[in-house]
Formats: sequence, C-alpha cells, structure tokens
Amino acid sequence: MQRHFNFSAGPSMLPLEVLEEAQREFLYYSNSGMSVMEMSHRSKVYEDIIFTAEADLRELMNIPNNYSVMFLQGGASTQFAMVALNLLNNSKKADYINTGQWSKKAIEEAKKYGEINVVASSEDAVFNYIPELSSSLFDKDADYAYLTLNNTIYGTHISDDKLPDTNGIPLVGDMSSNILAEPYDITKFGVVFAGAQKNLGPAGVTIAIVRDDLIGKHQAITPTMLQYSIHAKEKSLYNTPPTYSIYFAGLVFKWVKKMGGVPYMYEYNKKKASILYDFLDNSKLFKGTVVPKDRSLMNVPFVLPTDELNSKFIKQAQLLGLVNLKGHRTVGGMRASIYNAMPIAGVEKLVELMKNFEREN
Ligand SMILES: *Cc1c(COP(=O)(O)O)cnc(C)c1O
Repeated sequence: MQRHFNFSAGPSMLPLEVLEEAQREFLYYSNSGMSVMEMSHRSKVYEDIIFTAEADLRELMNIPNNYSVMFLQGGASTQFAMVALNLLNNSKKADYINTGQWSKKAIEEAKKYGEINVVASSEDAVFNYIPELSSSLFDKDADYAYLTLNNTIYGTHISDDKLPDTNGIPLVGDMSSNILAEPYDITKFGVVFAGAQKNLGPAGVTIAIVRDDLIGKHQAITPTMLQYSIHAKEKSLYNTPPTYSIYFAGLVFKWVKKMGGVPYMYEYNKKKASILYDFLDNSKLFKGTVVPKDRSLMNVPFVLPTDELNSKFIKQAQLLGLVNLKGHRTVGGMRASIYNAMPIAGVEKLVELMKNFEREN
C-alpha cells in the first residue's frame, strides 16, 4: 500500500518521519511502560512532554516571555467565542476584517458578546483578494482588531509585512492554516490562535498565544473553560488536556526545528507554491482564482472551464494517488492544500498531471 499525496484542507498530511516515530513509541513511551495515551497528565513524564512542546514552539516562533502559550480544546472555532469573551472588556467594541468563511463565523460568534464592526471585506469578489488595510479603518476605542492570516477556503493570505497598523489596539490573528509555514513577528499581535490539524498534528488541540496584559479581564459570564487566565495560570493542565495530540504536535515541532525552523519551511513553501502558480499563470486551460499579490502559500484554488472537466481532472488525479483535490463548494473547481508536510514531489506530480491534462483536453 502506497501513501497518497493528500491535498486535503484539513486534517492534512503529516510528515512521514513523525508518523513513524509515533509508531515506534506507540506502545511504550521512553521508559514509562505505557503509551502516551494512557499516561496521567499529572505525571512527570507527561509534564516533560507538554513543557518541551511549549519550549520548542516558543523557540520556533520567537514568542517573548510576556506571552502565554496554551494548549486548548474545542478547535479554532471555539476561539471565535473565547477571543470575544476575554477581550471585549472595555468599550465592548471590536473591528473585524472579513476575508472569508472563517472570518464570517468569527464575526457571528463575537456579535453575541459585543458590538462588532466589519471595517473591511472582500466578499464582493468571492473573497479572492485581501482588502486595503489602512490604519484609519480602526477605531482607537475598540478592544481589538481581528483578521484571518491565511484564508484556507479562498486561498489568500496576509504576510507579516502587510499586517495593518491598528492604531495601537491589539491585533488578533487566526493562524490555523499557516502557523509555522511563514514567519510572523508575534509582538505585532495581542492574540494568535491555531487549530492543529493543518500544520501541527492531529485534530484535538488548539494553540493560543496571548499577551499577558490581555489575560484576566474576561466578561463575567465567561465559562471557566473559556477563560484564558485559568489555562495560562495552570499551564494548560487545569483539566485533562488532549494529551496525545499535544505529544504529536511536539514531535512536529521537533521536526520543523530539525528541518531548519520557520525560515526553512517558508523557503520550501514558496518554492512549492511557485511550481503550481507558475504553471497556472502560463496555462490556457487551468486558471487560479486569487489575485496574484494575495495568493496563499498553503491553499491553491484553481478551476477548469467546465464542471465536467473539473470532475474529470479530479478523477484522473485520484487514480494517481493525488487525493482530496475537490474545491470548496463556494469556489468550485479544485483546491490543492500544500501545507508544511506536503513534499515538493507531490506538487511536481500534480503539475505533471495538469500539463498532460491540458495537452489532452
Ligand atoms: C480550519 C480552520 C478553522 C476551524 O478550525 P476547527 O479546528 O475545525 O474549529 C478556523 N480558521 C481557519 C483559518 C481554518 O483554516
């Protein structure tokens, strides 16, 4: 049985080396006589696992000491409420940038807890670009500004050099689909969060990185489990954390470090994405759907002229072990998600098929 090149938007491919390492340790972790899944989260051996994972993530992302790193549950979707409940604490107003389905969900959730103003949107063009983000958009009085750093469905991203000047209000970033894939200066953010299942490991753990001065001012109605303060104080061990997912993410952090850290992944991802974008830019049959300046390095949507050709292409790809290429229903066509763990060979094989398909159709 051969492993497929899995272009799924998430859960997505994991590095083979890491899967094999987890397999070797599956029954007996180190000298513990048990699987990581069977361990007490209060044991010394497990504390080593979670604290090492945190230290490695801090190193990879250059996270300063005045930020807390939390391993939480509930997916990135729970952060939509958690951010609002914890940060809407003064004017109870926040400014949101609407760049896709995930921003929209975040906006809907936050509206339950305060006054949410959508200050920029790219909905007028099926979210195929990032709107201009000048500092004048932002209300100096707002409790925070919010944006999605990589739009998984539409294939756009905001790189670090294009982060907006928010007039001093804390910036919150959803980094679910590009964490550890391109560099960001954490000090530009008040909060960054990311679900694990795109770039970090199996589903089940969500990372939240929160500047300490923003912790502890949650709304009174905030459930205990949704308070950043409790998880920061208890070092993610307030209750049973998703122990295995954290262990696995820790192995992925070690893998990224060994590869050369985020700078290496960034170069690798740029090279990988450009193979696909260069082909799309020169193709007469395939078309990328995103304006070039805002193209994601992680999610590449593209279309053929008819639905019939789209289905035909997806079927041919499947036969070659290039799977999960069907696009999101709001965009149609195809989407190739090429996260950190997707090897260049997978993208090369995809582009080879696209070339052949263009010749034959
Ligand atoms: C996948 C994704 C989410 C949702 O993540 P869950 O962990 O399924 O809740 C949110 N935001 C972005 C940008 C995503 O890619």
